[in-house]
Parts: sequence; structure tokens; C-alpha cells
Amino acid sequence: MDMQTARAALIAATETLDASGMNVGTTGNISVRTKDGMLITPTGIATSALRPGQMVPMRLDGSWDAPFKPSSEWEMHAEIYKAFPDAGAVVHAHPDHCVALSCLRQPLPLFHYMVAGFGGDDVRCSDYALFASSDLAKAAVVALKDRTACLLANHGMIAFAGDLDTALIRTIKLETLARQYLLALSAGTPVLIGETELAAIRGRYKTYGQQK
Ligand code: 13P
Ligand code: ZN
Repeated sequence: MDMQTARAALIAATETLDASGMNVGTTGNISVRTKDGMLITPTGIATSALRPGQMVPMRLDGSWDAPFKPSSEWEMHAEIYKAFPDAGAVVHAHPDHCVALSCLRQPLPLFHYMVAGFGGDDVRCSDYALFASSDLAKAAVVALKDRTACLLANHGMIAFAGDLDTALIRTIKLETLARQYLLALSAGTPVLIGETELAAIRGRYKTYGQQK
């Protein structure tokens, strides 16, 4: 994807997240990996005011040379690209049910087979750290070990994928699962899926959805 396309894609993705209720105002941020580092949304600009020229190309060491300041969470994105070579896009958002669960400081357990689609038997909740801090970047990387998403304590969620569309869908899926889990919790005690069943789910996922 060339830089002009990437700039437009970040804006379109931000609009998708707002339209699906994942973010409001200036919450959340999105990036894609580039040849020299990443292209990330600017800090503190609401979606309706975003323009392609405001997206910030930066290196993973935090250096940048652009007219607008990068997202205050740039370090969390950079650490993910450094730790996970498969990451081509990162989405951070504050969707209601992910935030609610993150305030309980609880993981999303294997109450539904789709939780395993994030890489393991749960989606972890990170340790608490101040927003826009190096500590939060580190806590996210720890919680993401062998996973493609995690909750951020008392804050929201972050997800990555090889491409931006997949990272967006992953974000919306995680929020849907968090809502369904909290709904089940409000009605009783959800019965979790066990280890043996997890192995079968993993096997099924190997071929699920393939048209050829
Ligand atoms: P930015 O506007 O700096 O991207 O921050 C939004 C956010 O969600 C901070 O955690
Ligand atoms: Zn945030």
C-alpha cells in the first residue's frame, strides 16, 4: 500500500470504528506498518476533522518529522510492531463492553469458541498503567503474548493483524464477544469451554472459512 492510500485508509478505518460505536470523540488510534516504521493517526483530532495530510509517518524509535504530532499512544503501537513481526496494522479503541470488562481487570475467558480466534484460551487484560505511557506499551506487549488482542486495564483494548481490515474486524469481534460475555454474566454463571474442547476448536479453525 503506498503512503497516499495508507493515509486515506487510516481515515476510513477511523470512520468505521466511530460508526460501529468503538470510539467517540478523540478516543482510540490506528496505525499501519510502513517501510520505515509506521503511519499513525495524529493525537487529539476528532474523526470528522481528520485529513490525509495529518497522518504521521514515524520511525519505531519515536522520531518523526511531520506537521502534526503523532498519537500519544505511539509507543504502544511501536512496541507491538517490534515484538510481533506479523503485525501490519494496530487498532486501539475504547468500546463500551471491553472497557467495562477491563475495569473488572478480568480476561475474556473461553466462554465462546470465537475467543480462541485471538490465539489462546482467553483474551488477557493487561496490568494497569497510565495512558500514553511507556509502561502501558510494555504492559500491552506482555498481555499480547501468543494473542492478537488484549484488554487494557481501566482503559479499553488493542488488537493487531497483518492488515488493517482484519485488525478492524478483530476489534469489532472482540467488542461483540465482550458484550455477549457480560450479558451471560448478568444472567448467571457462564459455563466455560474446557481444554479438550479447545484442541478441537483449534483443529476446526485450521480449515474454517476457506473457500478452496
Ligand atoms: P490520541 O488522541 O493521542 O491518539 O489518544 C487517544 C487515546 O485513546 C489515548 O489512550
Ligand atoms: Zn486510549
